[in-house]
Amino acid sequence: MSGAIAGTAILNTKPEEKLQTITLTVNNKCNLKCSHCYLQDDDTGFVDSEILNKVIKSTAKHIVIVGKEPLADIEKTSQTIQLLNENGKQVSMVTNGINLHKMDRNILKMLKYIDISMDGGPKTYSRSNYETILKNLELHPNTNILHTIYNENLENINDMLEVPHKIMMFSPYLITDNKGINTVTPASLKKIIKAFSKSKIKEYPNAYLMIDTYHLEQDKLTVSELETQIKEVGLEQNIILIKQDALEHGIVRVTHNGKILTPSDSLHTQRYDFTGREVGNIDEQYKEFCSVGV
Ligand code: SF4
Repeated sequence: MSGAIAGTAILNTKPEEKLQTITLTVNNKCNLKCSHCYLQDDDTGFVDSEILNKVIKSTAKHIVIVGKEPLADIEKTSQTIQLLNENGKQVSMVTNGINLHKMDRNILKMLKYIDISMDGGPKTYSRSNYETILKNLELHPNTNILHTIYNENLENINDMLEVPHKIMMFSPYLITDNKGINTVTPASLKKIIKAFSKSKIKEYPNAYLMIDTYHLEQDKLTVSELETQIKEVGLEQNIILIKQDALEHGIVRVTHNGKILTPSDSLHTQRYDFTGREVGNIDEQYKEFCSVGV
């Protein structure tokens, strides 16, 4: 879900309406079936060389490899990382991390950092064996942890905080229009902030709750209303509020089947046939997206 804002990449961008980051959906396969997944679609395949060439030709400095799950196609994903790296792009990856140990160590080193989505800690992680994933977290020196937060896992925050991390980013679950079924329910930002205020997050200086414009829109809240709520509980250090749309932070999505989308449109896979355009000159298309507005 944080793939729409390129994972932790958005934390290092400024809203300057200049193409900076391409979130590249390399495939539509995953080894898991998460209850909150927004990437439920029936399209398969893997990004081809024609699309990759367009990504390479763009002025985007940073390419965030996402999938569904990039490591469901380890060999092809590895070749893609190598190609982008050889062409001077900074490359990172968002993955569930389960297959990370199967990657060639030299390819791993080409990644600037890895965002691993976990949604659980030592007691509550349920995607695979916790001890195995812990070992995978050590394979790269810059491993960040992502957790999606919703009503059903709000009480697990302290457990999630215990996962070793350089940066840990929590993001609230968003309702999306996809072709599958989501069985979790969104918690209001007020409820989430309250839960974090009661948690141990203040003891973790590199753990953040990230709230972006899509969350504000879902809750029908303004930036100043949210800022007031954050101040009331004294969580200014641990909540990052992204006040401009991710598009204005220079982020666009390119999919494995040759579509280009704004970050907000990329959340709704059911609508890709209408919202996605055939990828062409990415810099030009980015400017057109910005001129239309968000
Ligand atoms: S690991 Fe990610 S892509 Fe795979 S099902 Fe879960 S949320 Fe979806």
